[in-house]
Amino acid sequence: MLIVQKYGGTSVGTIARIKRVAKRCLETQRQGHQVAVVVSAMAGETNRLLGLARKIHDDPNDREVDVIVATGEQVSVGLVALAIRKLGGQAMSFLGHQVKVTTDSAFARARILSIDAERVHAAFRDGKIAVIAGFQGIDEAGNITTLGRGGSDTTGVAIAAALKADACEIYTDVDGVYTTDPNICPLARKIERVSYEEMLELASLGAKVLQIRSVELGMKYGVPIHVRSSFNHNPGTWVVPEEKAMEHVVVAGVSVNRDEAKITVLGVPDQPGVAARIFAPLSEANIVVDMIIQNVSAEGRTDLTFTVPKGDLKRAIEFLKTRCGDLCDGGRRVVANDAIAKVSVVGVGMRSHAGVAQRMFDLLAKEGINILMISTSEIRISVAVEAKYAELAVRVLHDGFGLDKPPEARVSVG
Ligand code: ADP
Ligand code: ASP
Ligand code: MG
Repeated sequence: MLIVQKYGGTSVGTIARIKRVAKRCLETQRQGHQVAVVVSAMAGETNRLLGLARKIHDDPNDREVDVIVATGEQVSVGLVALAIRKLGGQAMSFLGHQVKVTTDSAFARARILSIDAERVHAAFRDGKIAVIAGFQGIDEAGNITTLGRGGSDTTGVAIAAALKADACEIYTDVDGVYTTDPNICPLARKIERVSYEEMLELASLGAKVLQIRSVELGMKYGVPIHVRSSFNHNPGTWVVPEEKAMEHVVVAGVSVNRDEAKITVLGVPDQPGVAARIFAPLSEANIVVDMIIQNVSAEGRTDLTFTVPKGDLKRAIEFLKTRCGDLCDGGRRVVANDAIAKVSVVGVGMRSHAGVAQRMFDLLAKEGINILMISTSEIRISVAVEAKYAELAVRVLHDGFGLDKPPEARVSVG
């Protein structure tokens, strides 16, 4: 078999752990498999590098930031390759540009366009383990790019797709994907199998155990993803196409995202084209708008409220001021709040079971948690709440939907 193993920051966080990773890669190879390893920077390193950049400039240029942060992964691939050699194995490290991880030029959030797997295959032909830097790529002009936080997951799955690997194993610091973040809710349970769609929702709603793009690529190219711990040999969670049995589970997981901020533009004219004008500059600036609500206020005017990633808040307000100053009184009618959290319940079973939203609102109401915004898709319901209630909301919903119990023992809804 051809297996891609991706090791996250904690898994390569110390020299002792790097040695353990090397041993595991070699064991896999000695079982007769071809092994490509994708590694992240050592734990804390990307934050440290970002911190250095911010010491020089409080709003650093993304192209230069990418040059700086990509070095974290450069160190890890070299160390892992050396550790494999030290154990008597054969390994070769590769940076993003050496396996031609070509991306677009959206620095700090680049998307992979193509990968040239030839050098990896050549390494395999020589009996080597290919150790590939996660998170980084190169654009068509030769600039170094990075894929956004958590981007090594995406490198892992993209390499697996390019090599037509049998599986992509994502090694991390928890045993798999849980019904909610096990570091917030000790009663969270490991999910054995989860559909790409559910995982996509969980990831985009805050479960950072997998980067969203990695799940999208897994789904698009049919790469089975096995999320598991690098600290033991327990079976983890398989992310796979939807299976019949998954429908019986109404709510598969709860997630929380604290990375969004709320912007309200007060009293915009209630006319066709206004929303389009407000959102156009944001989308041109690559700012992802998430939850949106519109409320009619007095005299044919409406308040438009939406969320954007916290990191883009300043930029978003600037764009509103400069591009739609006439609609928001030069920014005087723009109100921002970054003390919010988005809490979501996800499950493919929602397609066939009614009453989930009502139950969710009831559970939150009983705890006196006020809902600021609501958004839904076919398989999820999200609410924005005040940030201080985030963990309480997660626990109440996790408990209320019986996620602490095995799927067959959960009370049904509706
Ligand atoms: P790595 O460095 O290995 O990429 P990350 O820190 O990016 O690891 O992701 C693993 C973390 O994701 C866990 O430590 C956990 O706190 C968090 N997490 C959030 N939601 C979930 C979930 N539903 N299941 C498992 N882990 C989750
Ligand atoms: N090192 C990068 C980060 O910390 C990429 C990753 O770990 O996946 O975000
Ligand atoms: Mg990660």
